[in-house]
Amino acid sequence: MKTTVNDSRLKKAQEIASNPVAYKVCEGCDSIVGIQSVTCPNCHGYRFDVDPTRVVDQAIYLGARKQTSVTSEDMV
Ligand SMILES: [Zn+2]
Repeated sequence: MKTTVNDSRLKKAQEIASNPVAYKVCEGCDSIVGIQSVTCPNCHGYRFDVDPTRVVDQAIYLGARKQTSVTSEDMV
């Protein structure tokens, strides 16, 4: 079975949600970055929220949003 980009994004979201203590959420752009990152690779911010609940919520949100955007692109 072929793995789609959409599946891998969803898998990444699930991976983050299953191990939220290894990640943190950027306060500047809401990206999820690895816990060891000093600055955000997207916005170069240095303020992060390490609350696992926030990380899980954001992972699910990003996974769902990416899925929706891919679907709507497919329909155009
Ligand atoms: Zn950021």
